[in-house]
Amino acid sequence: MEPILWMVIPCYNEEEVLPVTAPLFLAELRDLAQKGKISPDSRVLFVNDGSRDGTWDVIRGLAAADEHYLGVAQSRNRGHQNAVLAGLMEALENGADITISIDCDGQDDVTAMEAMVDAWRDGCEIVYGVRSKRDTDTFFKRVTAEGFYKLLRGMGAEVVFNHADYRLVSARALRAFADFHEVNLFLRGMFPLVGFKSTCVSYERRERLAGKSHYPLGKMLALAFDGITSLSVRPIRLITGFGGVVALLSFVGVIYALVASALGRTVAGWTSMTCIICFVSGIQLVSLGVIGEYIGKIYLETKARPRYILSERTYGDPGERR
Ligand code: UDP
Ligand code: MG
Repeated sequence: MEPILWMVIPCYNEEEVLPVTAPLFLAELRDLAQKGKISPDSRVLFVNDGSRDGTWDVIRGLAAADEHYLGVAQSRNRGHQNAVLAGLMEALENGADITISIDCDGQDDVTAMEAMVDAWRDGCEIVYGVRSKRDTDTFFKRVTAEGFYKLLRGMGAEVVFNHADYRLVSARALRAFADFHEVNLFLRGMFPLVGFKSTCVSYERRERLAGKSHYPLGKMLALAFDGITSLSVRPIRLITGFGGVVALLSFVGVIYALVASALGRTVAGWTSMTCIICFVSGIQLVSLGVIGEYIGKIYLETKARPRYILSERTYGDPGERR
């Protein structure tokens, strides 16, 4: 029997782009169903992430117009990662055999879904959509985005190069993923930890069809830092290593100072003293900040607040669930 596919699409202030891209998702769903690759009972699920514009009205309109469109609304804006998680869990609870998460702005090529479903048929539980080229991105965006992956990898976070959140996940992998209870979500780094057979499918990333990006450089750096500290303790190890090097240098400095003193060559070294104090205190503050970041995460994890709260659905029981 053909698998039931649920496309999971997070939307935040996307009233401009949604009417353009929603038919593209539905057309792809119909195409795949016609080719016999997925069940005609497959669905396109929009997750409204507390949008401030008319996104929810657009979603409701779509759901009223075609039964393949469904919508759930988060009780407030919780961020892209939480919106995707909410959608994936909703799909799992509703009996989806496979899910594909994709952004709603039309940047990710929907036609890559066919290759993803084929890979699933070949036994892969997770299929990562990977951007083959970034010609349409500006040079700056390309360099910073690729630097982002290199930084993540260098810091010990296992991520698939040039993969964002366009991926197919089977129900089996999702059930395993549901046991990852962390509140600091970085999905693209967490799914590789789930394991199972997986592969990549490449596609060309296009420009946004309308609206504007929610991820300028500052937010991307924050995401990278968040990802690294959620997935790896390498920064703390680096601090330890660096501390070791500085301690060693200090030891040499102490010997030098003692020898200089014994030889009676103790001239007032204001400049060197100031430099050392500035350097060491700077390093200490940065190190404290990094350690503080981990403590902050522990704080959030121990509170174990819900990662998403749904307030509305366009179908079935509209009640709250999480
Ligand atoms: N998004 C969301 N919640 C947010 C921010 C973004 O659900 O708080 C959604 C957004 O609607 C889009 C996806 O996440 O579908 C990716 O956002 P965007 O296209 O702005 O990021 P970019 O592609 O520029 O990295
Ligand atoms: Mg985008």
